[in-house]
Amino acid sequence: MKRPSKLVIAVDGPAAAGKGTLAKALAQALGLPYLDTGLLYRAVARRTLDAGADPREDATSFAKALEPRDLERKDLREAEIDQAASLVAKQPGVRAALLERQRHFGQVSGAVIDGRDIGTVVFPQADMKFFITASPEIRAQRRYLQRFGSLAVSHEGLQKEIDAIIKRDQQDASRDVAPLKPAQDAVEILTDQLSAEDVLQKALEIMRKRGFVE
Ligand code: C5P
Repeated sequence: MKRPSKLVIAVDGPAAAGKGTLAKALAQALGLPYLDTGLLYRAVARRTLDAGADPREDATSFAKALEPRDLERKDLREAEIDQAASLVAKQPGVRAALLERQRHFGQVSGAVIDGRDIGTVVFPQADMKFFITASPEIRAQRRYLQRFGSLAVSHEGLQKEIDAIIKRDQQDASRDVAPLKPAQDAVEILTDQLSAEDVLQKALEIMRKRGFVE
């Protein structure tokens, strides 16, 4: 099969499973634009908290008002934003306000897009779909490393991170709109025992077999 001119690759999965790392590496390897859709929900959460509003309440107006510079803020990856993003992401109005933005990004010249519902809702016709997973313990360790640059962590510190990750996954997987779940035609990759390079090579190998990569 010849590579489509506007290749769309969906990379979904739970928090800190390695989606972003794979999606960025694939985008670079294939010369495609990359979109981290989690950042959109994080930016909506940031605006909501900055306005003193409750992320459980309707945040649609904040999603509609989102500007490119909101995505450049340096304070989108804090723990309070993890949880607030998951709360605003449950809201149908917020998701609807962000949908066209995501579709437009992919339609211009193809893209690698990571999130929770890319293969199921945003691009159900994506050329290639990956669902990236890892155990909560491994994901909590990776998140900790990202956040603090070291794994020198107390047992309680790590357990708190594991609990937060499990809570967020449950919230994301149990919501009514666009829940976190693999698309039927997604290829699942469990990354517990794999390095970032292993995951990239595995994904490229699958794409090669399907004729998307030489
Ligand atoms: O991927 P990240 O951890 O940055 O996403 C933050 C939150 O945004 C997730 O926990 C999820 O609730 C929400 N999200 C979503 N759909 C996406 C991407 C992220 O609901 N496509």
